[in-house]
Amino acid sequence: MIIKPRHPEKVKNKDNPIKKKPSWIKSKILDSKIFFETKQVVNQNKLVTVCQEANCPNITECWSKKHATFMIMGDTCTRACAFCDVKTGKPESLDVFEPLKISNAVKKLNLKHVVITSVDRDDLKDGGAEHFFKVVQATRKKNPETSIEVLTPDFLRKGESYKKILEADLDVFNHNIETVPRLYLKVRPGARYFSSLELLKNAKLFNKKVFTKSGIMVGLGEDKDEIIQVMDDLRSAKVDFLTIGQYLQPSTKHFPLKKYYHPNEFKELEHIAKTKGFLLVSSSPLTRSSYHADEDFKKLKALRVKKIECHQPL
Ligand code: SF4
Repeated sequence: MIIKPRHPEKVKNKDNPIKKKPSWIKSKILDSKIFFETKQVVNQNKLVTVCQEANCPNITECWSKKHATFMIMGDTCTRACAFCDVKTGKPESLDVFEPLKISNAVKKLNLKHVVITSVDRDDLKDGGAEHFFKVVQATRKKNPETSIEVLTPDFLRKGESYKKILEADLDVFNHNIETVPRLYLKVRPGARYFSSLELLKNAKLFNKKVFTKSGIMVGLGEDKDEIIQVMDDLRSAKVDFLTIGQYLQPSTKHFPLKKYYHPNEFKELEHIAKTKGFLLVSSSPLTRSSYHADEDFKKLKALRVKKIECHQPL
């Protein structure tokens, strides 16, 4: 039997040895019984999660709190970002039952907050926006008390199709900028920095009620000044919430990790970002865009209320 490589486009890349992890990068195990309950719901509903597909270091902690991030539209991405562990290739057709499956899983897990993300679907005319809309609406209908966060692709060359998602009844619109513009061609070759910024800016203009969120990874060889420039750009796009986390190299064929940032450096970046005016900043080695998303959503809501009470601009 011929086993297809997970990343055929990376097979010819030169080997980049993986640097040993520092002591502060450790996964936590909290409650293994709940972890297996979460796993069971994911498996029974035949769902794909980014927690598994991206080999996330937080999976034991998050799943032990019944917090999983669902990845819709399959497990195969049409892009080949140099940092990402999600499989690349030709995706399958959309599952018409997926909105029902996701809404059932959210109910079963009794989630107070759910994050729904997807692979890139450049093969679809609308990039999958209509499908996203259906998943959000079905989830909302079955789980009226659950807050819903979407973490979307960039919808590059898909016109205004992203607006369909913002017509859905959602709470947070998240799109990760991932890295600094200088590194885009190497790290995120299929994407464009200014297009991602435009998406975030337009999302806010189109739906002012929704919180916007974005994240970057550090450790790819960016300079501090470049990170600060990204913060300024995201604030110009009126992004509310910024996440900053450590890049972890998934394999020797992936983009080489240049540096592990010390927790104190994350604290410093958090401090700088707060001075830029983000409503909320989460910055730590294990921060991922969906890490602690439920608690952060509560904080976002409280902070917005406080701003309104103090007559401050949002
Ligand atoms: S941080 Fe996000 S992707 Fe990672 S395990 Fe938690 S929910 Fe899943």
